[in-house]
Amino acid sequence: MRATTAFKRLMDLPGVTVSDVDFQPARVVVTVKLSSRKLHCPECGFLTKARYDTRPVSSSWRHLDLGRWRLEVQADLRRIACPVHGARTEGVPFARPGSRFTADFEDLVGWLATTMDKTAVCRLVRIDWDTTGRIIERVMATGLDPKRLDNLFVAGADEVSWRKGHSYLTLVSNNDTGRFVWGKEGKDTATLDCFFDELGEKRSAAITAMSMDMGPAFEKSARKPGHATKAVICFDPFHVVQAGTQALEKVRRGVWQDLRKLPDQDVARRFKGARWCLLKNPGDLTDDQAATLRKIKRRGGDLWRAYALKEALRAIFADDLSEDDVAILLDRFCSRAQRSGMKPFVTLAKTIRKRREGILAAVRLGVNNARHEGLNRRVRLIINRAYGFHSANAALALIMVTLGPIEHVLPHERRPTTDP
Ligand SMILES: [Zn+2]
Repeated sequence: MRATTAFKRLMDLPGVTVSDVDFQPARVVVTVKLSSRKLHCPECGFLTKARYDTRPVSSSWRHLDLGRWRLEVQADLRRIACPVHGARTEGVPFARPGSRFTADFEDLVGWLATTMDKTAVCRLVRIDWDTTGRIIERVMATGLDPKRLDNLFVAGADEVSWRKGHSYLTLVSNNDTGRFVWGKEGKDTATLDCFFDELGEKRSAAITAMSMDMGPAFEKSARKPGHATKAVICFDPFHVVQAGTQALEKVRRGVWQDLRKLPDQDVARRFKGARWCLLKNPGDLTDDQAATLRKIKRRGGDLWRAYALKEALRAIFADDLSEDDVAILLDRFCSRAQRSGMKPFVTLAKTIRKRREGILAAVRLGVNNARHEGLNRRVRLIINRAYGFHSANAALALIMVTLGPIEHVLPHERRPTTDP
């Protein structure tokens, strides 16, 4: 068998013939020719036999490694004159537009990134993390289930911060499947408007309930004409408890600022480790953290009272209480928070009173509890890994290819394009 024939079979790239194989130090460069006489626009798929000019465009793509060899595909491409996109280098059937990697290579990386940490991915496939980010953006663009926005009846809207508050993502999940179906950079009303635009009026009207955080931005979007006007707006327990944690964090920061002004900086330093023992659930504390928490309890004061309030709020939703019971406990919590005189908790009491109907609706409809919390925990882990990416869109892509409606098909799992 000739080397070119062997490599055509080995690489299994669609729509090409192999014209040359060149072994270089540590890599094999395989030159291919496109079989199709027609050219297609990489942007829109427009097909034509006409070339824009006769100048060849030398292009190359990295393909899956062959043993320890790096495999490179090389081709002279033609230029096409697309009536819409103008003069472009033609698209190829084995790689996504604008990529320097074959689709097989990208599919592998797209799946690896969902299951492996950064160091392992970069070492195994020999690309940097930023490149990984760009690859999964392309995998997201082509791989998500096109029907993901159908049959969406109970939806959840969430915001997550990427790079510690420098940038935000809005994510929409389908409560029935527990998967994210939509995402975009931003966290305001206009961001969620884009979701409803994509959903269209008919599918938007079919949404019966929508859960969200207690801020005004998402509700405002949901209530606009043509959006989810008929949906019951739910403020799910996850977001209510999260608001309690945020109030506690504000009190803690205030106390910490006061301590830093003291002449004895030892107290402040010891106090710094208190953050996690306050924010974690009591059952998840390490021995050291439990000891710190006992010290805070002995010292008493605002910090301990704030902690007790946060825990009381969490306890309301910890058991499967009825809507009526939750209503009573919630009102009791609000009076306590109000009486505490601590500003973040007074504000929280006000918010909860205003959002009472929506909170109780979430309890009544059982919208987004454990599953929602689990989904959010996984998002936070992904966000941490996405820290080194160049853009919020790459972070979004990592979330969507991991927790979105996507079926990862690895190169050896798809049908061979050439039969031996
Ligand atoms: Zn085009």
